[in-house]
Amino acid sequence: MSTQPNRREFLAALGAFSLFPLETERAELLLFNGNIYTVNDKEPQAQAIAISRGRIVGIGSNADAMNLASAGAKKIDLGRKTVLPGFIDAHSHPAMAGVMHLRMVDCDLRSIAAIEAALRERAAKTPAGEWVLGFKYDDTKTSDGRPLTIGDLDAAVPDHPVEIEHRGGHTIYCNSLAFEKAGITDKTPDPPGGKIDHDPLTGRLSGRAAESARAFFDKVIPNRLTRDDHREGVKLISKMLAKSGITSAHEAQGTPTELLAYQDAHQAGELLYRAYCFINYRFIDSMIAAGVRTGFGDEWVRVGAMKLVCDGSISERTARLSQPYEGRPNDYGILVMTEEELYGYGRKAHMAGWQIGTHANGDVGIDTTLRVYERLQKESPRPDPRFRLEHCTVVNDDLVRRIKALRAIPTPFSTYVYYHGEKMRYYGAERLNHMFALRTFLDAGIRATQASDYPPGEFLPMMALQSEVTRTDRKGNVWGAKQKITVEEAIRVGTLHGAYASYEENLKGSLEVGKVADLVVLGRDPMKEDPFSLLTIPVERTMAGGRWTYES
Ligand SMILES: [Zn+2]
Repeated sequence: MSTQPNRREFLAALGAFSLFPLETERAELLLFNGNIYTVNDKEPQAQAIAISRGRIVGIGSNADAMNLASAGAKKIDLGRKTVLPGFIDAHSHPAMAGVMHLRMVDCDLRSIAAIEAALRERAAKTPAGEWVLGFKYDDTKTSDGRPLTIGDLDAAVPDHPVEIEHRGGHTIYCNSLAFEKAGITDKTPDPPGGKIDHDPLTGRLSGRAAESARAFFDKVIPNRLTRDDHREGVKLISKMLAKSGITSAHEAQGTPTELLAYQDAHQAGELLYRAYCFINYRFIDSMIAAGVRTGFGDEWVRVGAMKLVCDGSISERTARLSQPYEGRPNDYGILVMTEEELYGYGRKAHMAGWQIGTHANGDVGIDTTLRVYERLQKESPRPDPRFRLEHCTVVNDDLVRRIKALRAIPTPFSTYVYYHGEKMRYYGAERLNHMFALRTFLDAGIRATQASDYPPGEFLPMMALQSEVTRTDRKGNVWGAKQKITVEEAIRVGTLHGAYASYEENLKGSLEVGKVADLVVLGRDPMKEDPFSLLTIPVERTMAGGRWTYES
């Protein structure tokens, strides 16, 4: 441990820039007397962390760190509490979710009647004719045992067009007025890559529309969100994430709107997590023309991968599978973009130095996406493209071998087994042993991440740990026992692997000198906890860049 003079005094004396290595800087903040798991193999455990200007300048025993503190340093006794690196949610939609929480009806309710009541209440405050929008509806979580129908919505809200988004984000449920506004009748054919559902008996619209059929509605729903609304959304979701122990999130379906919202929130001091903002493929031409590529930005707001979408969703059972869904012999799910389309956009981005992240859930979707990535690397090899497979849910030996050969990064859903257990039966017990396949990925040396996909999935890191370690849902059903991992592995997946997925493994993801001070203080030690109560471990404090973003 060094005893350099105060850095500021030294600078003043020199009247010039200093090139001191970071390690010699005096700490302004000292966390000591902790039970710290660093996720750094060279020094896995520590008692104290010394922090200066948002970075870790020392980590080790209490005595080591004390030596680094400046005279006026703030010293915080952790009382032997457990500290982990801050969690990195490698695929979620927080900025989007933030504005939804601000403006839409939260339909995460347990009966159709409760949803109808919430919609009715909103409609009463909304001028007739204007849209009533909802989100987080989940057909498998209501007590009614059937999905919402056009009749339910017409009865609840007759004078406003209604669009309710499913929790998974790929399907919507609308009332008659909404279909009328969207120009859809009983006779309208399915658009390519989409589906308009009909009642099998009457042939009339059922109320549900999937995937690209949503575009009919997107065209007629006025987007009244202002730039300020988007900033407010980031502010709101920032508090929710910080409270759960998340210090970084990859915004998986970003557009220039989200990128700007992040910059605005950061400038206003309201951004409490580091954002790696993907850019939807529709904007790739303008981004490339502006000279922007993956990695542009700073450690708080950074341009992420270009986002492509290959197939449907797991929670809504539209992922494209090689074997049909259980009990639905003709249903193999949906492919959203063709292989040639994926290749066309992929090539542009790849050539311009972008990382690519493609939504690929089913084994057919993953196979298709890997073929595109293999072709890009064969035609124009790049040393470290870090191709991402967003979700990468249903795998087999051949797919795993190819993922490893490409050194691609899967981002499997981390909370689905626990939270969406009731949907697992559509996939069947055998297939579940090849889904969210963390054991397989880790054994193959593949750096898979933790990813909530919020709103479709819950984002709580403690739920992710429990789900990944136990593979057990809320009712005690075990799904895919072969894919269990250890608590220690789950923590690494949720921290360091997430940093690797955004090319930031030298900046964050573990607690070591030179990295940012992003960490979480827990009420109990997950390594010593019963795996079935990991979810109940309280998050007491969260720190990002040396500042507390949440304190209980
Ligand atoms: Zn997503």
